[in-house]
Amino acid sequence: MSASGPVVVVGGGQAACTVAAALREGGCRAPVTLVAGEGVLPYQRPPLSKDFLGGSGGGFEDVVLRTRSFYDEQGIDVIAGDPAVAVDRAGRGVVLGSGRRLPYERLVLALGARPRTLDVPGAGLDGVLTLRTVADAREVRRRLEPCRRLVVVGAGFIGLEVAAAAAKRGVPAMVVETQPRAMARALSETSAAHLVAEHRAHDTQFRFGRRVTGFLGDLRGRVRGVALDDGVVLPADLVVVGVGVRPHTALAEDAGLVTDDGIVVDAYLRTSDPAISAVGDCARHPSAPDGGTERLESVRPESVRLESVRLESVQNATDTARAVAADICGNPVPYRAVPRFWTTQHTASVQIAGLTAGYEETVVTGALAAGRFSVLCFGGGRLLGVESVNRPADHMAARRLLATDAGLTAREASAEGFDLMARSRTAAMV
Ligand code: NAD
Repeated sequence: MSASGPVVVVGGGQAACTVAAALREGGCRAPVTLVAGEGVLPYQRPPLSKDFLGGSGGGFEDVVLRTRSFYDEQGIDVIAGDPAVAVDRAGRGVVLGSGRRLPYERLVLALGARPRTLDVPGAGLDGVLTLRTVADAREVRRRLEPCRRLVVVGAGFIGLEVAAAAAKRGVPAMVVETQPRAMARALSETSAAHLVAEHRAHDTQFRFGRRVTGFLGDLRGRVRGVALDDGVVLPADLVVVGVGVRPHTALAEDAGLVTDDGIVVDAYLRTSDPAISAVGDCARHPSAPDGGTERLESVRPESVRLESVRLESVQNATDTARAVAADICGNPVPYRAVPRFWTTQHTASVQIAGLTAGYEETVVTGALAAGRFSVLCFGGGRLLGVESVNRPADHMAARRLLATDAGLTAREASAEGFDLMARSRTAAMV
């Protein structure tokens, strides 16, 4: 049955906005309140580390997801700038910073995550920044203008996208990464090496396998250098730290919900309290490596260890949000989706389907040297995911393959004449 009492959505990102909109699309007529803690309407984050940093730069209107009139027309009450500070589960109410209390029948936590910071001397110096919010991006953009020496810490999504945007503006970065290579969390060695070569061709430099031991400042407290564990000090007048995120779980923890590097939810995205759901970056949900939770539970339970994952992507934010909205509208379906990620750096548009971490074997198709290729990643005898660089049709084929139990093996994929698209069409027909 669809909820008839109030629905409260806490969080002001893409997941929160999608829940609210999908509730109305699904026919929910209950009062819906969105508590946007950042103080602005929900907006898209992906452009912030890309085009938003460009020379002329965009405005908030370029990233805002829905304008105020949308929420007004849909009867969605948006409270911006009065964040939720507590959840009273026994009394089914959310308490805001102002002391205001919002009663709920169903509560959705879309709390997102915050950037990790480095616990080293000088981390608080002026000019050592992280990038997550539109305010952060504006600050990075403003400081790039006079910047001559940019150091980026972390060769992950944020670090490499910032390095690409800065190079475009004539400020090539020095990137420091603790791992021996770039994007170790999200990409195979082949795709990561391709990206690094692109960056190097645009004068970006890398220091792999190095740890930052501290930031050095001048007498006015402005950053002037980055000290590494090999004794080298890199000159810097701007540092962008992109070393991953921590999920916002405090509100859930304080309310006694189960958390474990994320708010733990079941296949219906409900927390340990069924009146409360969690979505997006802050939620840890059950999933097989390819995301096919439902299929794997029903088809081959003994052969696959169901794992829980906490994913940070637009696809995860919007798909979990729609699933929770459907649940609240009275149509609960176990959540299943093939995880997807993308990044754009210089000429490389990378699309990732599935989760490729922990792969044991890869097969490359397409034209690697020309920068148009796909890397099929296999582990445990099955396809884990596919990374497509400037090959959007491959990406679509990969999504079809991963959504079905196609049984593609590395041996089959490396056979002469293997055609990913043809194989995905056959799989879809079975
Ligand atoms: P990330 O996990 O992608 O990358 C962090 C990188 O920092 C890793 O390579 C890690 O090895 C490295 N690192 C960790 N500690 C370090 C240290 N002390 N010194 C140097 N390097 C260190 O995280 P991110 O790049 O910070 O991105 C943050 C969030 O934003 C993630 O959720 C990410 O998915 C999201 N994001 C996604 C995209 C995209 O999908 N295109 C783009 C930007 C940001």
